[in-house]
Amino acid sequence: MALIVQKYGGTSLAHADNFKHVARRVAALRDQGHDVVVVVSARGDTTDELLGLALEITPEPDERELDLLLSTGEMVSCALLAMALKALSKEAVSLTGLQAGILTDKAHSKARITGVDPGRIQRELKRGQIVIVAGFQGVTTDMDVTTLGRGGSDTTAVALAARLKAGRCEIYTDVEGVYTADPRIVPEARRLQDIGYEEMLELATYGAKVLHPRAAELGLLYDIPILVASTFVEGPGTLVCKGVTMEAENKVRGIAHDLDVAKITMRGVPDRPGIAAAIFEPLAQANISVDTIVQNASLENVTDLTFTVAKGDLTKAMKVVDKRAKQVGFKQVLADGTLGKVSIVGTGMQHTPGYASKMFRALSDAGVNIHLITTSEVRITCIVDGAKVPLAVRALHEAFELAKPQ
Ligand code: ASP
Ligand code: MG
Repeated sequence: MALIVQKYGGTSLAHADNFKHVARRVAALRDQGHDVVVVVSARGDTTDELLGLALEITPEPDERELDLLLSTGEMVSCALLAMALKALSKEAVSLTGLQAGILTDKAHSKARITGVDPGRIQRELKRGQIVIVAGFQGVTTDMDVTTLGRGGSDTTAVALAARLKAGRCEIYTDVEGVYTADPRIVPEARRLQDIGYEEMLELATYGAKVLHPRAAELGLLYDIPILVASTFVEGPGTLVCKGVTMEAENKVRGIAHDLDVAKITMRGVPDRPGIAAAIFEPLAQANISVDTIVQNASLENVTDLTFTVAKGDLTKAMKVVDKRAKQVGFKQVLADGTLGKVSIVGTGMQHTPGYASKMFRALSDAGVNIHLITTSEVRITCIVDGAKVPLAVRALHEAFELAKPQ
C-alpha cells in the first residue's frame, strides 16, 4: 500500500479529546494497510503564547534561542499524538525535526529546508511504526534548531512527502478546503474542488492562510498532490494539483487578502546607479523580505521609492532605512502600518485583457482607494487601506461572480 503523509494543524490538536480524535483517524488509515507519516503543529495558540512569553522577557529575543523555544510547541504535540496512538494499541513513534532528518539553512525564524535525511523515518516505517514528526522545525549543519516561518508545518509535510515519495500529502485543518475567498468575510464563498499549484502558491503568498506558500511551492516543484480538508467534518476537501484546466475556462479562481502589510516611503532619493542596491542590500542582510517595490519617475534627479514589508518587520526595516537615509541623503522617510492587500488570482487571466480594469472598477465603485498595484502573470494585487479590505474582498468576489459554480 502507498505511503501517505498527513498533517494536522494546531486547531485540530487543541485539547486531549482532539488528540484522541486524530489518533483514531490515523489508526483507521493504518488499518487500511498504508504506511503513515503524520506531521503535527503546536497545540492551539501555543506558538503565540511562547512568543508572548519571550517578548515579556526581552523586546528583541535572540533568534537562535527563540527558535529553540518555539520548536517545543510541535514537540509537545508529537509526543501526545504518539501516546494517543499507543493507547489505541498502535505502534507509533514521535520524532523531532532533528530526529526526522530535516535539514535547513541558518535563517532563524524563516529557515528553508535544504534537505531531508530520510534514514530514521524509513527504518521506523519498516518496523511497522506510525511515524509522528514535529512540524515547523529543522536543524542547521551546526545542529542548531531552526523554525520554518509561521505556519511552516505544512512545508514540513510536503517536504517529507516529496523526499519519501509519498502518493500524496493530506493537510487537515479547521476549514473544509480552499475557498474562493475567506468565508468569514464573504459568506457565499465556495469551496474549490481543485486548484493548480501556481494559483495556490499565489493565493497563499498573498494571504490565504489555508496552506503555507512554501508548501504550495514544494508541491509545484515535486508534483505532490496536496489534499486540503477538514479534521472535523468529513468531505472531499480541495485537491491542489497540476492539470487543472482553468486556462480554458478563463476565470479568476479566488480572492486573497492580507492585513499584514506595512509601507515605507522614501522621498527625495537621489536618482543614480547603486542607490536601490544600497537600500535593499542591508534589508536583505537583516533578513527582511521586501514585497512590493515602486519607484517613481524621477524629477530633477530625485525620485520617491516605496516598498512594503510584513508589519512585524516594520521597526527593524525603519531602523535600516533611517541609517541609510543619512548616508545616501533622502529628504524624508515615512512609514504606514495600516494597509492591506487584496488580490485576484487565476491562470485564466494570463494574456487576457480586461481583468485589471474590471478589478479597478469594482474597487472604485465600492469606494476603495488604491495605493499601490502589483501583478504577476496569474495575479493582480492592490494595496488599500486595511480597514477597507473586507469591503474590497466582497466587491471583487461579486464582480468576478465567484459565488456561481464554475
Ligand atoms: N506552530 C507554528 C505556527 O503557529 C507552525 C504551524 O502551525 O504550522 O505558526
Ligand atoms: Mg498552521
